[in-house]
Amino acid sequence: KEITADSIRKEVEAKNVRFLRLAFTDVNGTLKNVEVPKSQLDKVLDNEIRFDGSSIDGFVRIEESDMVLYPDLSTWMVLPWVDETGARIGRLTCSVHKTNGEPFEGDPRNNLKRVLKKMTDMGFEAFNIGFEAEFHLFKLGEDGDWTTKVPDHASYFDMTSDDEGARCRRDIVETLESIGFEVEAAHHEVGEGQQEIDFKFDDALTTADRVQTFKMIVRETARKHGLFATFMPKPLEGKAGNGMHTNMSLMKNGKNAFYDANNEYHLSADARYFLNGILTHARAITAIGNPTVNSYKRLIPGYEAPVYISWARKNRSPLVRIPDADEVTTRLEMRSADPTANPYLLLAAALNAGLEGIKRGEEPMAPITSNVFEMPEAKRAELGIKPLPSTLHNAIKAFKADDVIKDALGEHLSASFIESKELEWSQYTQSVSDWERSKYMGY
Ligand code: GLU
Ligand code: MG
Ligand code: MG
Repeated sequence: KEITADSIRKEVEAKNVRFLRLAFTDVNGTLKNVEVPKSQLDKVLDNEIRFDGSSIDGFVRIEESDMVLYPDLSTWMVLPWVDETGARIGRLTCSVHKTNGEPFEGDPRNNLKRVLKKMTDMGFEAFNIGFEAEFHLFKLGEDGDWTTKVPDHASYFDMTSDDEGARCRRDIVETLESIGFEVEAAHHEVGEGQQEIDFKFDDALTTADRVQTFKMIVRETARKHGLFATFMPKPLEGKAGNGMHTNMSLMKNGKNAFYDANNEYHLSADARYFLNGILTHARAITAIGNPTVNSYKRLIPGYEAPVYISWARKNRSPLVRIPDADEVTTRLEMRSADPTANPYLLLAAALNAGLEGIKRGEEPMAPITSNVFEMPEAKRAELGIKPLPSTLHNAIKAFKADDVIKDALGEHLSASFIESKELEWSQYTQSVSDWERSKYMGY
């Protein structure tokens, strides 16, 4: 059913909504909120809620620090929690605008809309996205802070029904369903304490909005179970990391434009060209999809995370996998990104790379049929298989050198992304870790 200002007003009354949370996302992918009491509802619906953008990461410019929130009514939801007094909180995802009414170019959500417009100009109706965001659940310590103690000792698809991790996962699934998510799969992942919950694919903007909500629900629900949820890419060394596989397809004339029954991989020409665009710009996309120092501790051999730029049908070692699928679900599964990525920036980058590939109209490299990790280096060189960046530093360098991916973010966001990430890298290079002390203290 369509959501209107009127239907929101009615639901606010009917469900005792007393606060309204206006959500948007900063350059680092952090979900931000401005919360106002119900008395401000008219102002909310008339795009009149202002806030000071100067302290939001990536919004910076002091001279234009006044920002206005334009709620996207289709994102309306009443959050699943009720306080002791029976009060509930309504939530709207917003676009950030300048005081003159123009969309603010530093807002990652506005930027994704800009890149989606390029796609519609090329004759495609939708960029369909399914995310598989993995996470770990750890026990909370006595001080209420995280620990690295896992609540279970299970592994992939284990049927352990009675541990706190499984109970928490079921609670998350039901909470998501109560706010309108269609949860398709939920299972224990390979690592101890590691979980995955997948919700149904949808267009890029909707899915990016949803994954932000998803992470919030996972974190809050975990706390209620005395657990701490983390989307950190590699929380435990020597164990499986958390990926955010990105399943992508384009729609044209109401059909999946990536499907072709006659191709041996069931991939249409557009799908193969799009894939070529992803492979060509993969190093720069990594900066966006794997934006933290810790991201690169996941992209190592041996844990089902990709290291090399290649693609395959069955094999899980390359960057892009083509899952077995039918006409509707044929897609490219990009396996590099992790859940610390800003979903709006990640999808803008992947889409721009793919569209560029379609414009160029060139076939991708041949798929690989064996495990890339086990290939001798000379064989990889012969096949033209290059590695992903090995550190955040190298990824930022690749980003700076790639005009297509910088263009996917636009000038403002590229500059604030680089600034934020160079600072992070510099802080990391100055830190001294336990590993270093145990290795070098005896020198
Ligand atoms: N946890 C793996 C990763 O780091 C992915 C496992 C899977 O194939 O679902 O990407
Ligand atoms: Mg998984
Ligand atoms: Mg997957």
